[in-house]
Amino acid sequence: MSFLEIENAVKQFGGLRAVDDVSFSLERGEIVGLLGPNGSGKTTLINLISGALPATSGDIRLNGMQLTGLRRDRIARAGVARTFQLVRILPSLSLMENVMITAVFGRNTHWGDDAKRVAMDALDMVGLSARATAAAGDLTYIDQKRLELARALAAEPEILLLDEWLAGLNPTELSEGVALIRKLHQGGLTILMVEHIIDAVRALCPRVVVMNSGQLIADEATDAALSDPKVISAYLGG
Ligand code: ADP
Repeated sequence: MSFLEIENAVKQFGGLRAVDDVSFSLERGEIVGLLGPNGSGKTTLINLISGALPATSGDIRLNGMQLTGLRRDRIARAGVARTFQLVRILPSLSLMENVMITAVFGRNTHWGDDAKRVAMDALDMVGLSARATAAAGDLTYIDQKRLELARALAAEPEILLLDEWLAGLNPTELSEGVALIRKLHQGGLTILMVEHIIDAVRALCPRVVVMNSGQLIADEATDAALSDPKVISAYLGG
């Protein structure tokens, strides 16, 4: 049994199969890139795993536990956390409050000292603990991204789904971001990351899975995938 098992996952939007019979698995502690051109179904697949959308059919299991059909909060408590492509922080609340909310939602922790402790640990992990009382809306873009990540970490996940978390960072921020993801992975987190920045994928992920038009077209070592004619022609629109 693998840690995360996706078996024949399908998501149909009307006549469109955004995720079309996708199967792959992740072992515990792996970090895997999820690649594919725009519109290939990557975010939809993240939505299926995290329970943001119900699958049309197929099975998704974590540690042998069936996630398909469970509510989003149950999936969070089973150990799945994600970031969103557009950060979803609450600008008028403090960093601490922003993170406490997901600590409460994701772990069934009560609002109070316990949630505060978890939130502080998560802020510390992303390098924001010194600014815990600042308003989230005053943060720079990279710090908003860090906060978004802290919100995911506060649920104390076993698997983290990143949806283009590195997008929009300048070169310095990008290398800090890559180092942060590497640290989380080395700390034991299993990570599935949608990412378009190929250098970052090469630096972090020994293996990638590639989607095109809803289907999985490659599941292989990163170097092999990046020179795979199927993958190249998918990116060129072939
Ligand atoms: P990617 O993340 O690879 O860019 P998406 O998963 O966002 O791709 O989208 C895959 C396809 O599904 C696209 O054609 C997109 O327009 C469509 N799609 C995504 N979400 C919805 C939705 N909620 N309703 C209808 N179609 C959608």
